[in-house]
Amino acid sequence: MARKMMIAGNWKMNGLLADGVALAQEIKVDVKAKKRNCEFVVCPPFTLLGAVKKALKGCRVALGAQDCHFEEKGAHTGDISPEMLLDCGCTYVILGHSERRADHGETSELVCKKAKAAYKAGLKTIICIGETLAQREKGETIDICSKQILESVPNDATAADTVIAYEPVWAIGTGKTPTAQDVEDVHAAVRKVLAKKLGRAQANKMRILYGGSVKPSNAKELLSLPDVDGGLIGGASLKAADFMAIADNAGC
Ligand code: PEP
Repeated sequence: MARKMMIAGNWKMNGLLADGVALAQEIKVDVKAKKRNCEFVVCPPFTLLGAVKKALKGCRVALGAQDCHFEEKGAHTGDISPEMLLDCGCTYVILGHSERRADHGETSELVCKKAKAAYKAGLKTIICIGETLAQREKGETIDICSKQILESVPNDATAADTVIAYEPVWAIGTGKTPTAQDVEDVHAAVRKVLAKKLGRAQANKMRILYGGSVKPSNAKELLSLPDVDGGLIGGASLKAADFMAIADNAGC
């Protein structure tokens, strides 16, 4: 089953206006210069969405946000709705990132609610799952990831509107990564759970990204596995040269 590789950058809470625009422009130059056959997404902080959208005009790099509320509008101080993200040019929204689950107590049920609201507004989702170090050491990785898939992904999700990102929490920003075999095993298990939940046809088409300390030197090993359909890149997405080298090494 041919699935189009995706390379997505999660800029997290980084970048002022000039940095974000410069980074987007560098990515644009590279993507336009090379005939790349992957889908690219950049997910800047909310404050940079409009400017980055403008900077990316005319190239095939999609814009994503890092979170959204589940309501369309109303009394939710500090929150951003899916409709607002669509309005400023987003195609994607990352949901359930482990930093939101940890820092804001987001549950899988809430992630599912947000995903439904995102689809309703016309956004696609990148839904994140992943185990903590303690869970991995107890041998619970597959169980935890399966539970997160079952509870976070809406029953009507499709491969056209949903991408999964497997991000072991202990690998995010630490320089540590699972072995390639571990990554492939989790991705294959996640695809099986998706097949049970959404049917085999959708599961076979749905992209499952790996995220967690991906850099140019390990991108080939981690992102070329049979069930890995690209990467969600944090730290290394803040330098265009590294982000694009990851794409190169992943065969994009
Ligand atoms: C992330 O936060 O989504 C991530 C994968 O971070 P890093 O690449 O820095 O580990």
